[in-house]
Amino acid sequence: MVTNPVVAVEVRAYNVGFGDCLLVLFEYASGPKRAVLIDFGSTGRSSKSPEKAMEKIATEIQKIVQEQCGGVLHGLVATHRHKDHIGGFIGTAGQIIEALQPKVVTQPWTEHPDAAKDAKAAPSEEPKSIRAMRGNYLRSLEQMRGFCVAALGQANNRVGVVNASKIRFLADTNLPNKEAVDRLQRMAKAGKGEFVRAGAKSKLEGQLPGVKVHVLGPPDLTQTDSILKQKSSDKDEFWQFLEFWSLLQAGSNAVPAPVFAKAKTVRPPRTAQWFVNRANRQYGNQLLSIVRILDKALNNTSVILLFEVGGKKLLFSGDAQLENWMYALSQPEYRELVQGVDLYKVGHHGSGNATPKSLWKLIHQGPDGEGKLKTVLSTMKGKHHEVPQPLLMDALQAETELTNTEGVRSPALSAPVVRIQI
Ligand SMILES: [Zn+2]
Repeated sequence: MVTNPVVAVEVRAYNVGFGDCLLVLFEYASGPKRAVLIDFGSTGRSSKSPEKAMEKIATEIQKIVQEQCGGVLHGLVATHRHKDHIGGFIGTAGQIIEALQPKVVTQPWTEHPDAAKDAKAAPSEEPKSIRAMRGNYLRSLEQMRGFCVAALGQANNRVGVVNASKIRFLADTNLPNKEAVDRLQRMAKAGKGEFVRAGAKSKLEGQLPGVKVHVLGPPDLTQTDSILKQKSSDKDEFWQFLEFWSLLQAGSNAVPAPVFAKAKTVRPPRTAQWFVNRANRQYGNQLLSIVRILDKALNNTSVILLFEVGGKKLLFSGDAQLENWMYALSQPEYRELVQGVDLYKVGHHGSGNATPKSLWKLIHQGPDGEGKLKTVLSTMKGKHHEVPQPLLMDALQAETELTNTEGVRSPALSAPVVRIQI
């Protein structure tokens, strides 16, 4: 018997440009609301964004927490390590959120500070200490930083203007920000942190009476052994994620030397110029494909959460792409769970492979009627390769009640609020 049931859930989607920042408020029949912040990052802010947008949004979140939630931030979820999801945890904006002392900090198992480099799963539920900034974890951050910095350095016009801008965007998004990661680990210490995999029992449940919290992803590599074997032949990036790290660690030549490095000063014969251009372009294509693999691998570490409350279901999937979803979608109980959700935070800013069609069929209830699916999309055109995907946008607009942060004034004291009545 629930004595104080949840009567509504509100989702506030802040316009952070390209990125995610979602405040989920659980409203109870009596007493203060309970709050969970899902992601706090931005990259590629629009030209209309005001100065210090993340600070202003942090201040707004602080105000809501103080005025409506009894001063408590019950949960903080960092779905994955990309800048557009955790980049806000720096400077004053990061300090404001840290001062709220979130009760639970949820991150994917791949962020477990004690994980070995060839880990197939998080070593234990509780990290031993904040040794996070040492050992393999730190080394992997350093390797990734080195790679991204090198890729940024190579993203010049010689590789083609279009390639250069794509490489710059992806390398920058993947550039780990030590201050943000450090702050997350600090907030996660003293037993508040959890590093979850599919099927984990989340500590968030303890903070949200009456709410069931299902973790649908990411799977760890003990859960996906069969897929690992099955997919290794067709070079699926996600399942080779850790292998990819060891490759980075093994070689100092993670970024190959530029083709015709001196082409600028030593001008090749006129008749050979076409070849130099083509070779440089080819180099750019290869570099771009490497940063894309890196980007996709991290997206696939995204935590997928489903909140179930009073018969209503809300699904948040970070930037999880097909490979992450494959595990959940292969489990009958999860297939049943995602069937007919009431709210779906559109995966990966509306990209084409973050809302697999088999998922779409399950969550989507059809164009008419009261059960019309509510969707929340945080996106910005022209930043990421084919995001948002036009066909998906058409379906979202035609068949769901879509709330899109793009075009909403930022910082959003007027953040669109999607309300689910229980
Ligand atoms: Zn993202």
